[in-house]
Amino acid sequence: MDPVQKKIEDLREELTKHNYNYYVLDNPVIPDYEFDMKLKELQELEARHPEFYDVTSPTVRVGGMITKNFETVVHEYRMYSLDNSYSKEELEDWEKRIQRILGDASVEFVCELKYDGASISLFYEEGELVRGVTRGDGFQGDDVTNNVKTIRSVPLRLQGDYPEKFHIRGEIILPREGFAKMNRERVEAGEDPYMNPRNTASGSLKLQDNSEVAKRPLDCLLYSIAGENLDFRTQFEGLEKARSWGFKVPTVAKLCHSTGEVMDFVNYWDVHRHELPYETDGVVIKVNNIAQQEELGYTAKAPRWAMAYKFKAEQVSTVLNSISYQVGRTGAITPVANLEPVLLAGTTVKRASLHNADQIEKLDVREGDTVFVEKGGEIIPKIIRVDFTRRDPDSVPTAYITHCPECGTELIRKEGEAQHYCPNYYGCPPQITGRIQHFISRKAMDIEGLGSETVELLYKEGLIENYADLYLLKKEQIVPLERMADKSAENLIAGIEKSKEIPFERVLYALGIRFVGETVAKKLAKAYISVDALKEATPEDLVSVDEIGIKIAESVAEFFRNENNLEIVERLRSYGVQMEISPEKLQGRTDTLKGLTFVVSGVFEILSRNDLKKHIEDNGGKVASSISSKTSYVVAGDNMGPSKREKAEKLGIPIISEHDFLEMIP
Ligand code: AMP
Ligand code: ZN
Repeated sequence: MDPVQKKIEDLREELTKHNYNYYVLDNPVIPDYEFDMKLKELQELEARHPEFYDVTSPTVRVGGMITKNFETVVHEYRMYSLDNSYSKEELEDWEKRIQRILGDASVEFVCELKYDGASISLFYEEGELVRGVTRGDGFQGDDVTNNVKTIRSVPLRLQGDYPEKFHIRGEIILPREGFAKMNRERVEAGEDPYMNPRNTASGSLKLQDNSEVAKRPLDCLLYSIAGENLDFRTQFEGLEKARSWGFKVPTVAKLCHSTGEVMDFVNYWDVHRHELPYETDGVVIKVNNIAQQEELGYTAKAPRWAMAYKFKAEQVSTVLNSISYQVGRTGAITPVANLEPVLLAGTTVKRASLHNADQIEKLDVREGDTVFVEKGGEIIPKIIRVDFTRRDPDSVPTAYITHCPECGTELIRKEGEAQHYCPNYYGCPPQITGRIQHFISRKAMDIEGLGSETVELLYKEGLIENYADLYLLKKEQIVPLERMADKSAENLIAGIEKSKEIPFERVLYALGIRFVGETVAKKLAKAYISVDALKEATPEDLVSVDEIGIKIAESVAEFFRNENNLEIVERLRSYGVQMEISPEKLQGRTDTLKGLTFVVSGVFEILSRNDLKKHIEDNGGKVASSISSKTSYVVAGDNMGPSKREKAEKLGIPIISEHDFLEMIP
């Protein structure tokens, strides 16, 4: 075998194994860094040797494919719903119905958890993942294969003794921790948090760019196999087999012989499910024997051989003592319910989110009300309804605040937005300190020796009013402050000094422009190279950058229209903060493609889409996501969508191949 091919195949095998250890077994055996280096090595080899392309290579998980329209696929085996039950009695009735049909035969049950996510059907042929389809209406769903492939726990290639062809069903979920992390990042970027992990998981499956899906910490738990000539006789065996082929099948499944045992399982997990890393909303009880399942068959919408037992929503009632209003660093107002402390799902709850004025009006919540509080996937619990039977007859509807609780400025609410804002950008204390706190945070300027409380203290003492002021601080000013000593003051100054090395893309994130999170900051830094170029960009220019929408574009342009901001940016630059991408990073870059805008479409032979885009940007060109009169060239690979082609032809935009493109750059 060709030595390069051998190297590629060895790397693939090794990475696939580590991937399995990490994501399926939750038991990594090498450090992440080492994994990343090997993956990078493989990516480079594959880019140089497209002749060894393999659809199951671990590199496909990184993404780089766009799905414009998700194709509808008819399910070979229908994806049924489940009947629900809520009590032991209902379960006993179900068992009786089954026994009536099956006669004297003894019946075993498998209890599994009901994972709360988006259902998926995966089709494998000769051990390779061929297709992933959403449930849709149960008869047909959407082909989301490109997106599913990025989920690390979905095996691209199976191990062991698997059937030649089969479908396997499971649930795509977003574990609590990953969900919370995504939301923290959104909130930091000034965006509304996602409501719950289930909707976010199913929304993720329909994203067009699968490199975005790849960034989300999705997971896939499997629970049932469908196909011809499968060589197992029970559901339980099926689960074990699937596990042995490399699928992630939770081990909590239990074989039970009576409703009593089933109820033990239910009662145990009703309490302990909060310790699981993901959300569950019940237990699914299935007749174990597949011959018996076949005998029982299906109703119009669900199998007769399975039953969901729904956990009671984790709800408690408590008194709403007061409503207070928080002001974020972007000026957004969030109403918060202060509750009489109460125990819910294992933790004491004192506060709940009320989201915005509409939510308060919709629920008609008032101070002093008794309310029901529920814990879903949200970071903090939410109020779901008021117990009107216990409302004080003298209570009056909640009047939403009209002025900022911190600075007294009249609040505004933009057309189409749910949140009220305090427009006093320069005078509202939590906005001022919030921006500085964001600036110094780990993912931004990462200033060691300076914490949120110190920022508030420095502001209160009149030593700083914006983040540029940090760079003028002197040790003598800090030492006299509360809880400060010589050493800590020195550390603080040293930390500020060191932040001057932070690269431009992070400085851009640190500026705290609304809607500019880490990823967007990176994209903008790459596209514009320097703050000078960025501040000249109009919203129309900005949207031509890949993945920059009009909301972000307008926010960026607005930021740089503001004289105050411009002055602060100039000051930062004069103190030595990086305001452009460093020359080292720019190496290998040219401006050969300056002024040209490219749209990349289809699948390529030599370069991955990401590499192609990188070449465009490294040579000064811009990548746009859709064809318009501003497009200079369309780089087309295989499978370019016909509607794109038509549009390019209509507008007279040249369509070039990747070879043509490679000719254009040095
Ligand atoms: P429902 O959507 O309430 O009709 O419930 C049916 C759905 O439960 C199925 O479509 C699956 O997506 C989901 N589900 C979650 N966990 C399981 C499991 N262990 N076995 C079967 N279905 C499950
Ligand atoms: Zn204010």
